[in-house]
Amino acid sequence: MPLGKGGNVTSVDAATMTVKTDFEDYKAAVANIVPPQQAAAITVRAGVADRTGWCPIEPVGFESSLQPGIHVLGDAALMGAMPKAAHAAAEQGKVCAAAVVAKLRERAPEEPALENICYSLAAPDWGFVEINKYRPEKGLLTALPGVTNTSPLGAKPAVRAEEASEDEAWFRTLTGELFG
Ligand SMILES: Cc1cc2nc3c(=O)[nH]c(=O)nc-3n(C[C@H](O)[C@H](O)[C@H](O)COP(=O)(O)OP(=O)(O)OC[C@H]3O[C@@H](n4cnc5c(N)ncnc54)[C@H](O)[C@@H]3O)c2cc1C
Repeated sequence: MPLGKGGNVTSVDAATMTVKTDFEDYKAAVANIVPPQQAAAITVRAGVADRTGWCPIEPVGFESSLQPGIHVLGDAALMGAMPKAAHAAAEQGKVCAAAVVAKLRERAPEEPALENICYSLAAPDWGFVEINKYRPEKGLLTALPGVTNTSPLGAKPAVRAEEASEDEAWFRTLTGELFG
């Protein structure tokens, strides 16, 4: 239930499996409690988070809209259509680094073309993938229409196995790039 319709969880009693909200108590067989999410406290202290708890940025070099000279990327930033994902954060890191270098050289940063790839593994040999591309538009990153690449429904097991193996390769490549 959404917050605005009485879904604000005020307490949880795991012993009795009771979830209390502003208006009612609910008994649950299984309850998945997701606390309110926001960027880390350091972003508030740095003055880059707004009232939403997230950080507004410009979408070319990810410089804070609130504090010039501070760049925010990844989950903490309000990126528009680009999801909070590891691949997205890594892409944004590269774009941000290029924009900072351009700024230091007193050049205009190039308008970025970003990609996000989300793999899901349902079993070791059963994978799914979705790929989207994004570009800056009206102050936010917007998804490019018509370029989504999603695993087809009803694909053969060989396709699922291939996508599972691509997932493994993606993980190795990304962690290799990030951590060496
Ligand atoms: C359960 C789960 C599953 C996910 N699965 C996927 C997936 O399959 N594919 C995918 O692409 N993405 C996935 N994600 C999302 C992905 O993990 C995040 O989008 C990504 O980690 C964001 O990177 P980030 O660097 O922005 O933030 P984080 O990875 O959260 O890194 C922020 C870091 O800053 C540190 N930090 C905070 N405050 C301070 C401070 N004051 N001083 C120093 N350090 C500080 C934190 O400890 C943390 O290590 C998943 C996330 C979750 C929770």
